Amino acid sequence: MKTVLELQDVHKIYRVGEIDVPALRGVDLTVREGEFLAILGKSGSGKSTLLNSVGCLDKPTKGRILLEGKDIESLKESDLAQIRGKKIGFIFQNFNLIRSLSALENVMLPMVFQRAYGQMEMAVGKLSGGEQQRVAIARSLSNDPKIILADEPTGNLDSKTEEEIISILSGLHEKEGKTIIMITHNQKLAQYAQRVIHLVDGRIRS
Ligand code: ADP
Ligand code: MG
Repeated sequence: MKTVLELQDVHKIYRVGEIDVPALRGVDLTVREGEFLAILGKSGSGKSTLLNSVGCLDKPTKGRILLEGKDIESLKESDLAQIRGKKIGFIFQNFNLIRSLSALENVMLPMVFQRAYGQMEMAVGKLSGGEQQRVAIARSLSNDPKIILADEPTGNLDSKTEEEIISILSGLHEKEGKTIIMITHNQKLAQYAQRVIHLVDGRIRS
């Protein structure tokens, strides 16, 4: 299988006032096309930082991230926006939906940015957590991305809803061939993935 994503010695240090906070300390990782990968780790181990770096939302302090063989550092901001909008879909723990918009408007928003749009209803704030996460998944798929990045997608959901969400993600992997990188601190959820890596203090422990 083709490599879609490669991280080479990725470091991230946040500067907080006078203090350096190391979040990633040399991560090497290769993700193949169509793979379902789970990243397990305790709170503060660098999981979100890793996913945000992969999703071009955050810049590594050192190291390289190659997306389909291209160093994302070398891309112009306009190309990065294109990648974020079309190649990658994001799903977050707190859904990150826009509460003043309807479910459909939330789903359509990335399409609007990519120049396809329409009109719609139902304020998203009135939906349950599970429904909101389904909307967020639909939104992440709206431009048919190859890669789906999910940061603790079931972190705020009850266990029944959690199972429903995870089976949607499994289906996207199995039936649609999507590459999925899912962060979780739940061992049970990680079992749905084909491969599990553990992040400890900003490093992959094998
Ligand atoms: P996780 O998602 O595994 O809980 P994070 O990637 O959010 O871990 O955080 C890793 C480390 O980096 C933590 O020590 C956290 O406090 C720190 N950190 C994360 N984001 C920032 C930020 N924007 N500014 C400063 N420190 C941060
Ligand atoms: Mg996190």
